[in-house]
Amino acid sequence: MSKKHVFNAGPCLLPQVVYDKAVEAIKDFAGTGVSVLSISHRTKEWDAIMDDTRALWRELLNIPEDYEIVFLGGGASLEFLYVPMNFLEKKAAYVDTGVWAHKAFKEAKGLGNAVEIASSSDKNYNYIPKGYEIPADADYLHITTNNTIYGTELKEDIDSPIPLIADMSSDIMSRPVDVSKYTMIYGGAQKNVGPAGVIFAIIKKDALGKVSRYIPTMLDYRTHIDKLSMFNTPPVFNIFVMHEVLKWIKDLGGVEAMNKINVKKAETLYNEIDRNSMFVGTAVKEDRSIMNVCFVMAPGKENLQDEFMAFAKAAGMVGIKGHRSVGGFRASLYNACTQEDVEALVACMQEFEKLHK
Ligand SMILES: *Cc1c(COP(=O)(O)O)cnc(C)c1O
Repeated sequence: MSKKHVFNAGPCLLPQVVYDKAVEAIKDFAGTGVSVLSISHRTKEWDAIMDDTRALWRELLNIPEDYEIVFLGGGASLEFLYVPMNFLEKKAAYVDTGVWAHKAFKEAKGLGNAVEIASSSDKNYNYIPKGYEIPADADYLHITTNNTIYGTELKEDIDSPIPLIADMSSDIMSRPVDVSKYTMIYGGAQKNVGPAGVIFAIIKKDALGKVSRYIPTMLDYRTHIDKLSMFNTPPVFNIFVMHEVLKWIKDLGGVEAMNKINVKKAETLYNEIDRNSMFVGTAVKEDRSIMNVCFVMAPGKENLQDEFMAFAKAAGMVGIKGHRSVGGFRASLYNACTQEDVEALVACMQEFEKLHK
């Protein structure tokens, strides 16, 4: 089989060393003679993985003492519901930067008074709204830092006068984050830190317990904080793999080093998109995501879209079809994607241009 360059938007590519460790652990977990798929989560060997996974999150993101981190099942989409359940009392403010942001808003609206205070839907979400007013009477402001489908990203940690809650599903661990600016950060693992099936939430502990509604046990973050994410059976294998991904990030030099690598990959691809007469980027330049790079055929070249798709596929490119709401192409350059993968895609775009000159 020829080398494949995987640009899937999620579940994402993971480092080869992580695949190898996962295979090993499926056969024999930590020298126990039992597969990681079959070990009891009530063992000291498993406790050690849970403890170390939390410790790695703390270390890599410099998470302050008064924050807790939990790992759960259900997908980031379930956290759209966890958020209002645990934090919405009188009013919630949401910034609408795409499909995921709007889905998060919908769950809040179902539980109480939620408002979208800014939106980039007027331009098919190709930018991040700025300069909007944050209502002082809202319980929290919800943002989506990276918009996986549209390739826009808020690359700085904004100042919010009210508690800030962020869906960081698709850019977590891609850059340093000032956790202290957020009341909560959450997301699914499958875009940058592991396989599908586990989600994370980093929560400022004293922000919980302020709503008057009944919160079902499983949807109450306090349940999972109190039981160290083992109130019920945790997604054991998924957490194990996430643990290996975090170790890999640490070995590379942490999130600062990861960010340098990611910025370089994104620049390489955006430079080619801007130079190449066959393609144009869809997101406005200042808000371009370093994780999801979206582009379409240049005006007048639209009829060549299917041809480029086939050409790229033959060259080993996997997962570059754009989301149906944007069309064209999307290359997801998550942490495990290498500079070499990006250069292979760039070479493919250059060859395609030559063919059509
Ligand atoms: C993929 C994604 C989600 C949804 O994740 P699921 O785990 O599939 O529910 C939510 N938010 C963002 C930003 C995403 O990229």
